[in-house]
Amino acid sequence: MANTVLITGASKGIGAATAILFAENGYDVIINYNSSAESAILLEKSLKNNGYSAMSYMADVSKSNEANRMVNDIINKYGKIDVLINNAGIAQQRLFTDITDNDWERMIAINLTGTFNCCRAVVPSMVNRKSGCIINTSSIWGMTGASCEVHYSAVKAGIIGLTKALAKELGPSGIRVNCVAPGVIGTRMNSSLSVEALVGLADDTPLGRIGKPQEVASTSLFLASRDAEFITGQVISPNGGFVV
Ligand code: NAP
Repeated sequence: MANTVLITGASKGIGAATAILFAENGYDVIINYNSSAESAILLEKSLKNNGYSAMSYMADVSKSNEANRMVNDIINKYGKIDVLINNAGIAQQRLFTDITDNDWERMIAINLTGTFNCCRAVVPSMVNRKSGCIINTSSIWGMTGASCEVHYSAVKAGIIGLTKALAKELGPSGIRVNCVAPGVIGTRMNSSLSVEALVGLADDTPLGRIGKPQEVASTSLFLASRDAEFITGQVISPNGGFVV
């Protein structure tokens, strides 16, 4: 029986690259999306056309009823979720004093509450099976803080705290919980940055470039693998040396 992976926010960017890599490595892949149905369904079709197992699933992870429904439907269809990758997220650059109530609440709802909702939905079945792997997505800005991204930095730091606490609570049940904290990666999330800003970020990176979505995907594949069986509660940061 193949392993099943649920990747939230997999319609594009890092999530889509992760879906492709896990499919290529024999996983049954569930591609969660919220608004980008077209991209998610296209990815599902392209994986299936290449002989892989994939299903796209619409759910807004910030809503607990939608996260619960998604997890229940997947377990009914596949029997289990072996790996949960909480990747769905939004970012925003804004002066601290310009952050509105809505900006703050939306940032928390999608990034942090979304991660909480999906973990809480999936954990009972993992505990029953005494097996499972959860990979949450933070950011280097959750480790160092970023100017004009106080709300983003706060939720990404919160995800590190959630990961460490949950790893301690679930370790005795045979479940590992880790976190990837990518550096600057070339996705739509950074499309609002100017070319000069992106060149500046690459120059400030010891390896001299920004990262590729596939490089975050391969970090997650490692964390889900048997090679990482003794790793839990850790923050692994593919960032080209930007933060050391
Ligand atoms: P992206 O290309 O903008 O993709 C974001 C994904 O999140 C999309 O698939 C989007 O799906 C999904 N999403 C947003 N709101 C959602 C919701 N309410 N429910 C379900 N899915 C939702 O961004 P990315 O760069 O790949 O980022 C992926 C993750 O990596 C994020 O958590 C981000 O914070 C983190 N990260 C990114 C970077 C970077 O430099 N790119 C660096 C560090 C960390 P829909 O379009 O279908 O709504």
